[in-house]
Amino acid sequence: MLLENKKIAIVGAGPGGLTLAKLLQLKSGYVKLYERDFDKTARVQGSPLDLHDDSGLAAIRKANLLNEFKQNFLPRADRKLITNERAEIFFSDHDTKPDENFGSEHFRPEIDRGTLRKILLESLHPETVVWDSHFISMEVQNEGWLLHFKNGSSPYADIVIAADGANSKIRPYITPIKAFYSGITMLEGNIHEAEKAAPHMNRFLNGGKIMAFGNSKDLFIGQKGNGDIGFGASFKADENWASNNGLDFTDRKQVLNWFTTAYSGWSSIWYELFESAASPFVPRPIYCAPLDQTWETLPNLTMLGDAAHVMPPFAGEGANVAMWDALELSECLTSKKYHTLKEAIAFFETAMRERAAIAAAESLENGERMHSESALKMMLAFFNGH
Ligand SMILES: Cc1cc2nc3c(=O)[nH]c(=O)nc-3n(C[C@H](O)[C@H](O)[C@H](O)COP(=O)(O)OP(=O)(O)OC[C@H]3O[C@@H](n4cnc5c(N)ncnc54)[C@H](O)[C@@H]3O)c2cc1C
Repeated sequence: MLLENKKIAIVGAGPGGLTLAKLLQLKSGYVKLYERDFDKTARVQGSPLDLHDDSGLAAIRKANLLNEFKQNFLPRADRKLITNERAEIFFSDHDTKPDENFGSEHFRPEIDRGTLRKILLESLHPETVVWDSHFISMEVQNEGWLLHFKNGSSPYADIVIAADGANSKIRPYITPIKAFYSGITMLEGNIHEAEKAAPHMNRFLNGGKIMAFGNSKDLFIGQKGNGDIGFGASFKADENWASNNGLDFTDRKQVLNWFTTAYSGWSSIWYELFESAASPFVPRPIYCAPLDQTWETLPNLTMLGDAAHVMPPFAGEGANVAMWDALELSECLTSKKYHTLKEAIAFFETAMRERAAIAAAESLENGERMHSESALKMMLAFFNGH
């Protein structure tokens, strides 16, 4: 077996790294998962994820965690309203969407990122995750790598897998290719205890999501499991919009002023989002790895998820593809089909690049559609099945 007596280091406890650790442990792999967060109580930020049957959920099933998932997903959070900038509703599936239907390719259950992390963490052998391990650098040692972390530790691993997300510090050891800016920036906000803090928006949201399109700009709003509301204002902008616009993202008033100008013609109904959001807002320029990227396979180092192929969030594919990568890599590394680790990694990487390029192309196209003059019309046609 390729992994016999091999120490595996996975860096990054996102959906990709955690899923890989679990799947390798199921096949008796010796895994350490190094994560920069201080400990398991660190708050995992970000919108809930909808998992897809053939990728994210396939990995959950393979990890024998479907029951835990079913007990913890957010029923009805996949219900959506599509509106124009004046908050007029053009599409709602709140009363028409069938209830929980695992196994159907159209059912995309939502789960909080923190809950997904917890499910995966609790399924790992004790001491698998080494918290407070911020990767800094590594160097070749014998047949493997000596990794260096900010906390001063320097463990050895025979195989390193980078799952450290879009700003991966390990990716440059594999390829110098960088992600490109998609032309779209998202300004994210989060409202704690939304029932109290933003009662109108909370009622409008009704436990699901809102996608609002107008003047080539978008607002995405979504319910979180803990009663928070997360939202993102998404628009075309220069790559350095966040640093060049002079906005203080800790100042709600300033950000609301910006919204009223940048989103002119949008209803004042939306203002509640900006008035009640926690500080600071987070500007997020959206990047995408080149669709035709390639690199030479190494025998003891690879990457997956956003580290390998970050893509815009407009098809909801990123975490799903990351978990699919984990599934495929665990199969390759534990298969008897390959004679060497390099052969197994090469097979995985070739298939991963192809899969990711398809998902990234869809994500880029959706991004263009959603930020065009006719975004509302196109999105309605999509969701009405035309
Ligand atoms: C606004 C938005 C909405 C999205 N919505 C969806 C959606 O609905 N569905 C979907 O499938 N995807 C969605 N995505 C994409 C999704 O978030 C990512 O694709 C996914 O999280 C990638 O998983 P990952 O495990 O590769 O990396 P990450 O989730 O980024 O995890 C990386 C981990 O590595 C750790 N780390 C980073 N650097 C270091 C270091 N130097 N040392 C040690 N640890 C480190 C981080 O703390 C983190 O825990 C969205 C993205 C955005 C921005």
